[in-house]
Amino acid sequence: MPTWHGQVESTEWLTPALVRVVLGGDGLGGFAMPDATDTYVNVAIPPSGAPYSGAFSPADVKEQHDREHWPVRRRYTVRSWDAATGRLTLDFVVHGDHGVGGPWAGGTRVGDVLVFEGPGSGYRPDPAADWHLLVGDESALPAIAASLEAIPAGTAAVVRLVCDGPEHEIALPCPGDLDLVWLHRTGAEDDVDLLPDAVADLVFPTGRVHAFIHGEADEIRAIRRHLLSDRGLDRATMSCSPYWRRTMTDEAWRAVKRDYVAAMDAEVA
Ligand SMILES: Cc1cc2nc3c(=O)[nH]c(=O)nc-3n(C[C@H](O)[C@H](O)[C@H](O)COP(=O)(O)OP(=O)(O)OC[C@H]3O[C@@H](n4cnc5c(N)ncnc54)[C@H](O)[C@@H]3O)c2cc1C
Repeated sequence: MPTWHGQVESTEWLTPALVRVVLGGDGLGGFAMPDATDTYVNVAIPPSGAPYSGAFSPADVKEQHDREHWPVRRRYTVRSWDAATGRLTLDFVVHGDHGVGGPWAGGTRVGDVLVFEGPGSGYRPDPAADWHLLVGDESALPAIAASLEAIPAGTAAVVRLVCDGPEHEIALPCPGDLDLVWLHRTGAEDDVDLLPDAVADLVFPTGRVHAFIHGEADEIRAIRRHLLSDRGLDRATMSCSPYWRRTMTDEAWRAVKRDYVAAMDAEVA
């Protein structure tokens, strides 16, 4: 995959836990977006104390430095790419002090450099679908926001989102007929049921749905099971992926993700 680097041109807190980082500069020359609304890049963040910085090559770093200095990899969705100005926008969840990607975004300053590889992608709302279902948490907001912008006027978009409270909600412009409900976590154990229960409670519009279901692994798994088993959706009409997993760093999650997804696939014939 090609390697790029962007220079931080601005940062903006969209909510108390979501920071927008706009990248620009010559390191983005030639970047191009696939025809998708869930396009993501694989960022490479040097661990603290790394003996390199700026616009490094991840491949060279791996050859030249010990594993402890290798960059930390995380995936983030391209919220938007402005080919005319060469600006790339990413929205990062800052979930407390935990992790690497969140704290990097929360502390980054104008002029910092972010190295990344990609892009990859897999979904765009099908213009032939009768209606769209989009479900997720804050990590899926960039993809869901970009997707809603691509839903045509007159087509229903049913959206269920979970966040920590009203101050964590963002505006989601959509040319289609938007049925949007935000669910708010309370900190209780059954927060994990908020999204699955909200989807189970839906009265589906008639016609063929195209679904985008992304966010925390166990929540996504429960929703997927319901859509396939109880609602009879066809796998081909769903984009469904666990972006992250509660209690696991991304490294720990990536180590078990293949088996988890295989088990998830196997539980609904
Ligand atoms: C294709 C793809 C696209 C993605 N796009 C985005 C995006 O645009 N914006 C975005 O913010 N994330 C996005 N994610 C999710 C993001 O990659 C993970 O949330 C990642 O784990 C964050 O890394 P971190 O270093 O901040 O935390 P980690 O070091 O991975 O985790 C530290 C702790 O924080 C928890 N944690 C991780 N993510 C969250 C979260 N969102 N909320 C609460 N707790 C969390 C973990 O369970 C762990 O306990 C995407 C993931 C994929 C696969």
